[in-house]
Amino acid sequence: MRFGALEAGGTKMIVAIGDENGKILERASFPTKTPEETMPQMIDFFKDKEIESLGIACFGPIDLNKDSKTYGYITSTPKLDWKNYDIVGAFKKALNVPVGFDTDVNGSLLGEITWGCAKDKTDALYLTIGTGIGGGVMTNGKLLHGMLHPELGHIRLAKVPGDDYAGKCPYHGTCFEGLAAGPAIEERWGKKAVELADRDEVWELESEYIAQALSSFILTLSPQIIILGGGVMHQMQLFPLIREKVVKQLNGYLNTKELENMDKYIVPASLNDDQGIMGAVKLAIDVKGEIK
Ligand code: ADP
Ligand code: ZN
Repeated sequence: MRFGALEAGGTKMIVAIGDENGKILERASFPTKTPEETMPQMIDFFKDKEIESLGIACFGPIDLNKDSKTYGYITSTPKLDWKNYDIVGAFKKALNVPVGFDTDVNGSLLGEITWGCAKDKTDALYLTIGTGIGGGVMTNGKLLHGMLHPELGHIRLAKVPGDDYAGKCPYHGTCFEGLAAGPAIEERWGKKAVELADRDEVWELESEYIAQALSSFILTLSPQIIILGGGVMHQMQLFPLIREKVVKQLNGYLNTKELENMDKYIVPASLNDDQGIMGAVKLAIDVKGEIK
């Protein structure tokens, strides 16, 4: 069977055809311009591919409440051309197939849960640290939506003494994203994050903030595994630093078998940056199953 998949990002739209095993058979990518320009390109890609259904893992905020009048819309996004845009409705109308819809980070988590490093888990957290910070959560085998969807990048953290950076988040200044996403690293240190690879103090500070956030998520969500993706996490030296600081911050309060093996507890994404598009394939498979 063939399923359509879209990983909708603020910079680019990745479209693909996948099979029931998550294998990507064909893919393309278009820059995210206006809906008038970009939607026809994506619809053209899917049009004659005989897909059963479509899965969309989408940047947000988005409306995931099926009882809402604006279910399937991108809502208050800073990408103004896409604000209040009915992306699910537009694809349903153009392609006449069922459409599954979730956040980009829930999509990545679903990819990892279905085909990646979190296969046997029922409770997991996926965090992306890139242009922004966002998190997807699975609890008891279900993706967590709540009243909207979690916004794990915007929690408050304790500022490290000596770090006088004002923070980058337009809403909260020094929230997690404001302190630790790629653009914050670049503004604080005055260089592209990738060019700071050999500056130990950069990653020392970065790992402190990431560890603070993860400690809070461990205490509130009790995940069995934490997967870290996104551009910034390509700095692999962060992993041992984060693990060590999380252990220090939790200070022996929790004693679980998962926390005994930190190398397997806090891990990099495992699907070569295909976790998002593969998760979108799974959203398509699931929506087809729901409808049968
Ligand atoms: P997006 O979040 O826009 O989908 P990415 O996850 O690639 O895209 O995140 C982009 C951010 O990550 C930028 O701020 C960039 O500087 C940073 N970044 C990308 N690659 C690296 C790298 N190898 N090392 C450190 N930072 C990186
Ligand atoms: Zn914020």
